[in-house]
Order: sequence, then C-alpha cells, then structure tokens
Amino acid sequence: MISCLQEDKVRLQEELNTTEPQRQALGSPSQSQLEGVEAKLSDQTQELNRLCSELGTTDLEKHLEILVLENDRLKQELNGCQLQLQQLRISLSGCTNCEHSKENAQLREQTTDLQLELGEKTQLLAELEQHLKDVLQEKTEREERLNKRIRDCHLALAKQPTPSVKYITKKVEVESSRTKQDLDEAQARNHYLQEQIAIQRRLLTEQEQQLQDSWRTSAQLQVQIMMYEAELERTRGEMLEAFQAMEDEKNQAIEEVFLQARTEMKNVHENLNGVRMNLLSIQPALKTLTSDYNCLKNHVRDFPCLLQDAVNQTKREIYQAVEEAQKTNQDLLRKYKREMQLRKKCHNELVRLRGNIRVLCRVRPVNQDDGTGSDTRNIISFDNDDDAVLYVWHRGKTSMFELDKVFQPQALQADIFQEVQALITSCIDGYNVCIFAYGQTGSGKTYTMEGSPEDPGINQRALRLLFGEVAERSADWDLTITVSMAEIYNETLRNLLAKDPNEKLEIKLSPDGSGQLYVPGLIQIRVQSVDDINKVFELGRVNRATDFTNVNERSSRSHALLIVSVTGINLTSGVRTTGKLNLVDLAGSERVGKSGAEGPRLREAQNINKSLLALGDVICALRSKQQYIPFRNSKLTYLLQDSLSGDSKTLMMVQVSPMEKNVNETVCSLKFAQRVRSVELGAMVRRAESQHYSNRQDYELESPSAVAQQGRFNISHSAGSAVGKTTAGKRRLVASGEVNHRHGPASLPAL
Ligand code: ADP
Ligand code: MG
Repeated sequence: MISCLQEDKVRLQEELNTTEPQRQALGSPSQSQLEGVEAKLSDQTQELNRLCSELGTTDLEKHLEILVLENDRLKQELNGCQLQLQQLRISLSGCTNCEHSKENAQLREQTTDLQLELGEKTQLLAELEQHLKDVLQEKTEREERLNKRIRDCHLALAKQPTPSVKYITKKVEVESSRTKQDLDEAQARNHYLQEQIAIQRRLLTEQEQQLQDSWRTSAQLQVQIMMYEAELERTRGEMLEAFQAMEDEKNQAIEEVFLQARTEMKNVHENLNGVRMNLLSIQPALKTLTSDYNCLKNHVRDFPCLLQDAVNQTKREIYQAVEEAQKTNQDLLRKYKREMQLRKKCHNELVRLRGNIRVLCRVRPVNQDDGTGSDTRNIISFDNDDDAVLYVWHRGKTSMFELDKVFQPQALQADIFQEVQALITSCIDGYNVCIFAYGQTGSGKTYTMEGSPEDPGINQRALRLLFGEVAERSADWDLTITVSMAEIYNETLRNLLAKDPNEKLEIKLSPDGSGQLYVPGLIQIRVQSVDDINKVFELGRVNRATDFTNVNERSSRSHALLIVSVTGINLTSGVRTTGKLNLVDLAGSERVGKSGAEGPRLREAQNINKSLLALGDVICALRSKQQYIPFRNSKLTYLLQDSLSGDSKTLMMVQVSPMEKNVNETVCSLKFAQRVRSVELGAMVRRAESQHYSNRQDYELESPSAVAQQGRFNISHSAGSAVGKTTAGKRRLVASGEVNHRHGPASLPAL
C-alpha cells in the first residue's frame, strides 16, 4: 500500500514537472489548465490522505489487534486453568507426597514459567505497538508538513502575476527540488519504516510461533489436568467406597457396643440392686462395728500401759527361759560329750572285734597281657556261700585260704571302697589308719589304690569321702586335710611333691629328747577339692617317673605312699584330734632275688624283700606282744610305726593274679596275708586332746605294757618341727593349743 502511495506521489511530481515546462513553453498558461492541475493535485492529495488513513489501519495493526484479542483470550484461559489448578490443589491437599502432587508441582512450575514468558512477550508486544504508533505519528506529521507546503506552493502560484510566473516557475523549480529532496527523504524514511515493519513482522511471526508453542503446552497441560481429574475422580470413588465400608463397619461396631453396653448396664443394675440389698443388711452390722470401734478406742487408750506390763512380764519370762536353756544346754553338752565318748568306745570295740588288722584279698580279672599259653589257666576258685575263702589249685592239689573277705574278679572299685570306708572315716575321729596293697607286680595293686581317671581307686575315693565328712561335720568341727606323697626306693625316702624329686628325706628323732620323729622337708599340701587332689596326684606321678622309662617300671620296684592328715577342733568342746591315713602301694612282692638278678636289679630286689619282710616281722612282733618291735629294720616300717602300732588300724589288700603261671607268687602272697591276719594289736586309744584336764582319766585307756612299745610319728612340712612323740608308761594327753602341724600346710604348687 505504501509503495503504491509512493508511486502516485512520484507520478504526480512528474506530472507537475511536465506541466511546468509546458506552461513555460506556452508562456501564459490558461486558467483552466491550472485549475485542472490543481484539481488533479487536490484529488491526488485526497487520494493520498485516504491512502494515509488507510495506512493508519494497516494489516500490521489489524494483526496486532487480533494478537491482542488472542492474548486476552489466552489470559482468560490461563485464569481458568489457574482456577482449576487451585481447585485441584485444594482437593489434593490431602496427599502431599504422592506422585500426582509431585507432577502437579512440576506442572505448576511449568505454568509459572509460561506465564512469565507470556508476560515478557506481552510487554514486548506493547513496546512494539508503542513504537509503531510513534512511527506512524511521525509519518503523519511529515505528510501533513508536505501537504501544507504543497498548498503553500499552490497558493503562491495562484497569487503570482504572469510575468512573475517565470520567476515563480523558477522558484517553483527551486521549491520542487526541495520538495523532491523532501520526497527523497520521505522515501528513505518510508523505506526505513518498511524495513522496520518487516522486522516487526518477523518478530510478530516469532511471537505467533511462541504463542502457538504456548497453546500447545497449554493443550498438553489441559490433557494432563484431565488425566489428573480422571485419577482424582477414581481416587475419590475409591475413597468414597472405603468411606462407605468404614461407615458400615462403624455402624456395626456401634451397634455391637451398644448391645454390649446394654448387657453391661443390665448387669450393673443387677449388681446395684445386690449392693443396695447388701447395704441395707450391712447397716446393722455397721452399727455394731461402730460400737466395737468405740470400745476398741478405749482399749487402745489403755494399751501402752498394758503393753509395758506385758513387755516387762515377757522379759522376765525370757530371762527365766534363757537361764533354763543355758542350764539345759550345759546339761546337753555334758551328755553330748559323754555320748561321743561312748560312741567312740563302741566304734573301737567294733573294730577291735573285727580285728585291728584286716586282711582282704582281691583277685584281678584275666586281661589281654596274660596271653593264651598252657600256663594261662585259671587256678583260683571261690566258695559262693562263704566270701572269706578262696581255693588255689597248686602242685596237683587244692589249697584253701581264709581271709577276712575275698573279692572276686568281677568286684568293682566301689565294692572295694565300700569295705574300707569305715576305716577312712575313723581317721577323722583321730585314729591312724594304714591301708597296704600287697602282691606281685601285675596283680592289680596300683589299680586298686589309684585306679583310672574314669574309675578311681581307694586314694581318690578316700579323699572325696573325707571332703564329704568335713562338710557334714562343719557345724561342729573345724577340719583341715593335708596330703603328702613319698616314695621309698632302695631304702631311700623321696619327697614326691618337692621341686627336686631326687632330694632324699631322712626320718629323724627330735633333738629335744622327747623321742618324737620328724621328716624334715616333707611337703604337706592342703586340699579342699577333687581338683586339688588331681593336681597333687599328677605332680606325684610326674616326679615318680623320673629316671625311668615309665611309671609302672618304677612302681614295681618302690613303695608309694599317700599320707593324708586330718586335724580337727571340735567347736563345742574344744577337743582337738589328729588322724593320719597312710595309703601304701607296695613294691612287687615277687621273689626276684631267687631268679638270679644281678647289679642294681639285685639290690632293688633285696631292698624290696627286706622291707616286706620287715613289715611282716613288725606285724608278727605286734601280734605276739613282744617288748621289742623291729620298726627300724626298714624305712617303710620306721615311717609307718605309728600307723601300725597300738591304737592304729591296718588293712592289707592282698592282690593276686588268677593265672597258673603266677601260682607260686599267689600262694606266697596268700600265706603272708594269713600270717598278718592273725596278729592282734593293742587296745585302741584315740588321739584326742582336751582342754579339760579333769577329763584326762577318760582318755587313759591303754595298758602301760602295750603303750611302752609304741612310737608316735607324725609328719611335718617344716624342717625340725617335732610332731610326734614316743610315749613311755601311761599315755599323756597333750594340752590344748599344741597342734601337730604348727607351721600349717604348704600351698598347692602349680603343675
Ligand atoms: P600292679 O600295680 O600290681 O603291678 P596293676 O595295677 O598295674 O598291677 O595292674 C596290672 C594290669 O591289670 C593293669 O593293666 C590293670 O589295669 C589290670 N587290672 C588289675 N586289676 C584289675 C581289675 N580289678 N579290673 C580290671 N583290670 C585290672
Ligand atoms: Mg603298680
């Protein structure tokens, strides 16, 4: 449109230019021609104005209006969307963390972004509009100025007389060139404006594009909103269903509760009625109680005086009762002591009747080591009606041996112990006890005395029994158990619990001239549990095996002694007792000397024979009540003299093998046993010490002749402590406080 206008203008100008020379050529232009030109000019001007007014509502403006309208519509839609979003947000405010909420938040952010973008674009559009308006305004003003000038030109032309036409024509020419210049400027301006319009159009196109994008996004958002709405609708439906179900449940529960409450109410009413009835019946009782209460109140007022009287009376009665109890107690104590003495006497009498030396025999079972040769027949048989005899088939005939008891091969360790446990208990009462295992090597001596860890022998069972007795008597007695382990090999006494087992021990007479014997350096260890015993035994075993390839080898050639000392103080009477239990696993009794042994073996055999012979001699001398008892003939009898003499109790367990190949040794052992069995020891006296010298007569039970032969021997850990004494004439009781183990037992060494 503008270019058309420009063309018209140019054409008009040309026409004007062509009319001027024509006029000049004519010299005086006719009025009609002039008017014609003016009219044409005015037409053109009108046309120009019209075109200008048309230009005022260009496509751009129309487009702009459309855009503004469209923008308004979009804004409205956006508001609608925001409204919907608001509603959705309200309805979704329940679920804050669900997927929809997150998506919603994202969409909201997108919407905000779009809004911002739209705002920016709207602002840009407004700026463009303003710019366009300014440009058009400027253009209009220029057009007006041009028209005015043209009008002024026409006016001046009209006013000019003909002669001056030339001048005017010149002037017009001049004016025309200026006009032309202005026109050029206007054209340039116009061109610039066209360019601006093209730029604006491009911008408009971009804006449209962006607007379309916004529409698309908006459409997508709407789709999503619809989806959310559908989801929301579905969720609402589910919620409604769930709500309905809950409502139903609630109604049902209310109904149940109501029913229950009605039942309870009914019960409560019934109870209430019962309580009412009770209240009615209680009222008379309440009255009685009130009167009782008043009565009691009066009593309580008088109670402190009554109480004081009663307390005084009770105190008097208690003092009286205590005095009586003390008297009774003293009486009882006296009776108890008398009973104790009586019990001991009865016990001693029983043991005396059974014989102070008891000889038992144990026949070991056949074992794998016995082999299967012709001399491995069993030559021992028993009498099922008499457990004190056994028969040995020897040199074509059967010999009978009678002992106190015979244990057949199937006898258990427990059976053996059952038989000896009375002796062990008497050691707590202050008697010295000696248990020997006698027999040839391999006949079961060590098995009987030591046994195996699973099935222990007399040694361990004895200590266990003593522990039990100590615990049982703890209310009346303070008892201490100590153990020593020694070995006699080649007439040498060795301390098996010492750090150096090769150290030799000596039995010495006390230098104070009291005739007491003591063994300097012999260690005593206090034991209180089975663990302690096991540790002590292990230490003894380890020390015994020194210098020998195995313990059995050593065992057959030496005597092993376990010496258990039990000292006690009666907590009631103050009586002190000391008992000693000697458990001796003797060396093999086989006659090695006869088989032509030489060197060290011969010496060993001679020493063994000598000591066993000495043991037999001592027992025979005791039996025949000789003045002189040859205790000093061997280390063994010298060490054990107090356990063999007088009031002591001795048990000999003769072990035999049932094999024909051992028959000679079996017969020898049994003969020895029978000889020992017939020995009668002196009357028994308990080793009791009393604080009360007035009771001394009760303990002086031995005949002077029997006691004259005895030697007392105790063992002490400390060097030089005299712990035993030889009595001559009547036995003297030792005053209270002289405990034999003056220095106390040694502690258990670590193994
Ligand atoms: P000793 O000490 O007299 O030389 P042992 O006690 O070492 O003899 O016994 C020799 C073998 O006989 C050992 O293997 C021992 O286990 C076994 N023995 C001995 N007496 C019995 C018994 N009463 N029951 C089972 N085995 C026994
Ligand atoms: Mg042995």
